[in-house]
Amino acid sequence: MNKPIKAIVINKEDNNYSALLSTIEHSDLPNENVSINVLYSTLNYKDGLAITGKGPVVRSFPMVPGIDLVGIVTNSTSDEFKNGDNVILNGFGVGEKHWGGLAQKAALNSDWLIPLPAGISPKQAMQIGTAGYTAMLSVIALEKQGITPESGEILVTGANGGVGSFAIYLLNQLGYNVTAATGRLDQSEYLKELGATQIISRDEFSTPSKPLQKERFAAAIDSVGSHTLANICASLKYGGVVTACGLAQGMDLPASVAPFILRGVSLIGIDSVMRPKADRIEAWDHLAKLVNADYLDKISTEITLEQVIDNAERLMEGKIRGRVVVNCQ
Ligand code: NDP
Repeated sequence: MNKPIKAIVINKEDNNYSALLSTIEHSDLPNENVSINVLYSTLNYKDGLAITGKGPVVRSFPMVPGIDLVGIVTNSTSDEFKNGDNVILNGFGVGEKHWGGLAQKAALNSDWLIPLPAGISPKQAMQIGTAGYTAMLSVIALEKQGITPESGEILVTGANGGVGSFAIYLLNQLGYNVTAATGRLDQSEYLKELGATQIISRDEFSTPSKPLQKERFAAAIDSVGSHTLANICASLKYGGVVTACGLAQGMDLPASVAPFILRGVSLIGIDSVMRPKADRIEAWDHLAKLVNADYLDKISTEITLEQVIDNAERLMEGKIRGRVVVNCQ
């Protein structure tokens, strides 16, 4: 007989929101074509919002949260995956509208899965997680726009965040000269260890300023949005490129068209959630070649399913630095 499955379960009844470590039966799992033993998941900002109920992330109840996971296939009716394959999932609404990774087992659609690339372990895949994958998509987007290490200085905002710190590391590995913008200047040594050459205060970008400013950066990776993104556009060099993936400062974009029509600047949107499979495979193959085990150990801590709820609260209080990997077995 199958043992019950340990899982974080979110419920909402009569406006009472709850997230508990609970058990579910195999028959409760969704009817999808690939069954998985989840090895590791992670705690992302979005998972923190879902578990604490601080943001409208969960679209149906009960819900198992966890927007990313790595696991081993235990049953499959898909031609793409067979028993014993290691697979990665990021996004596709998993942990929001489909049951996610914060459980011992999951049932998922094969269209959402990619194979674990050669060269990284399952745990390393989740040390990278959605933050590293989104940073990689951003770096690839700059490269596709013709940005090279010779183009000049690259700005990374939200530098101590998951996406920002990965972006710094990846750009440095590829030979770029990286400037990190942060609100935590006391973490400058850490940012330099990751690969930033210059550290500047995020205050330089966070308030309204002129629509065209001194041409300073060849490109930027922004996870902050709002005035920060507007000021980045205004201070890119002629033909510069900025990728936008996040809204840590705000969802607004109080910018002018001046940088676009007078300096040929490009603004490239990065979405990791619905990204086509070929792009995912490309990004993960690059990640497998660029990250090293020491770096991943330095930026992550491992917890168990029992410790998820408490850590989600701490994540929302801004008390966690780096990646939280959840051992789901
Ligand atoms: P984190 O919370 O780990 O990091 C965000 C960082 O932004 C913080 O560490 C901080 O860096 C900076 N920051 C926070 N508040 C402000 C503020 N008011 N003004 C300026 N900077 C601020 O988040 P992630 O790195 O995981 O994600 C970053 C953003 O990207 C989020 O908005 C997230 O939702 C989004 N995202 C989008 C994805 C997509 O597919 N488009 C995928 C993944 C994430 P510091 O302390 O160094 O200043």
